[in-house]
Amino acid sequence: MSDKSVDCSIRGGLVVRGSGITREDIAVKDGRIVADADGYGDSDVGRVIDASGLYVMPGIVDAHNHPENADRIETFSLSAAFGGVTTVVPFVRNRRRYGVEGTVTDMIEEFMDEAARTSYLDYGIHAILLGDDDVEDQVPRMMSMGVISFKMYMTYPRRGMMMPDERMLKAMELAAQDGGIAMVHAENGYCIDYLVEKSIEAGHTGREHYAPTQPRILEIEAANRAATYAQVTGCPLYIVHLSAREMLGVLERFRGADMNLFGETCPQYLDLTNQAMLDHGALAKIGPPLREREDNEAMWRGLSSGLIDTIASDFCGYEKSQKALGGEGEGSIFDAAFGGNWVEQMLCVAFQEGVNAGRITLPRLVQVMCENPAKIFGLYPKKGSLDPGADADIVLFDPSLEHVLSAEEQHCIADYTMFEGKRVVGKPVLTMQRGEILVENGIMRGRMGQAEYLPGNPSLAAYAPGGHGVS
Ligand SMILES: [Zn+2]
Repeated sequence: MSDKSVDCSIRGGLVVRGSGITREDIAVKDGRIVADADGYGDSDVGRVIDASGLYVMPGIVDAHNHPENADRIETFSLSAAFGGVTTVVPFVRNRRRYGVEGTVTDMIEEFMDEAARTSYLDYGIHAILLGDDDVEDQVPRMMSMGVISFKMYMTYPRRGMMMPDERMLKAMELAAQDGGIAMVHAENGYCIDYLVEKSIEAGHTGREHYAPTQPRILEIEAANRAATYAQVTGCPLYIVHLSAREMLGVLERFRGADMNLFGETCPQYLDLTNQAMLDHGALAKIGPPLREREDNEAMWRGLSSGLIDTIASDFCGYEKSQKALGGEGEGSIFDAAFGGNWVEQMLCVAFQEGVNAGRITLPRLVQVMCENPAKIFGLYPKKGSLDPGADADIVLFDPSLEHVLSAEEQHCIADYTMFEGKRVVGKPVLTMQRGEILVENGIMRGRMGQAEYLPGNPSLAAYAPGGHGVS
């Protein structure tokens, strides 16, 4: 090959960016996308990938996941790669409530060690700040490690996870000072515990009693409160897993006040309802709860109109037997574990219900699943972009492949899916990370231990003065 050569050329596909769809070739050299892809003859190209009939998209950036149960970063990232994800940003927290000594910073160091050995995908890190974290000490320490996003729970007081309001204000102040961003799980935990206790006292512990103890007003109240605190402290805020239709009004109101406020939703809040809880009990237990069809539709409207910025998985991988403990059969739904393993089906579900169903455009899907999460957390344009200079993190997606989603096909340890039996058209057929093929035609060709840590860069974040903003 001549000097002017590339490692790989992806030819004949339809390239999808947030700005639109174009027919062009993409060329890759030394792990990055290079300009003038059609300027290379066959003899200048290491490998030609025929993408005719396929969409060429940036890899998905999954900015919300918890690989800390049966599925840790190894099997979570494996499963994610099969689902078209190329970048993950997991949450790390202190584990004192499990008897593990150490600060959240110590846990981040441990996680980085584990991820360097076992992750298949490049990873950033979000911290979770719990009520017992020394935020004055920890926030600046984490910022200097490239951890620029700090999630706080406004719920789960009995589980020792809730951040008291006055500490949340302090954490927001510190994050804002250093160019970071706060994230909140917006639900009023005192009210939830009050309602749960009353329900248990009345002997109402079945699956049908779950949703009534977690009403939508508690999400709305907490989101208003968090956004108010963010406004008072001048801290950018990202509200995770929006689920209730009224959240669109909350976003609209505070955006109007010219705040840096971002909203996320998840495939489960776009496609599932409380019927899944009634059908499957503990397996469908998540917080906030699955709601109603009108809420699914509102989430799509928010994504389409620009009020909601991202889709992320909120992956939490339990085996069925662990997840169902106490919740299936005779046990109390209130004793069952929270969370679901939605990452591998996320793109297929979003494409089916969003693009195929005409609720959002394909470029908008790329904005909310690739570009915006990278922009918000200071990883853009290295990640989430197909422009020259970006990492060659690419997904080839076949929009005509019809298939049925099933846990039998998934690659995580979690052995069930709430999307079991769902018929979809469209599937990722190739995942590439930094120019290396990870997954091709359903086979993992990559290796663990090749992944890179991605420190968040506050000066590139969407909310930074002169930052990329989000569309
Ligand atoms: Zn979560």
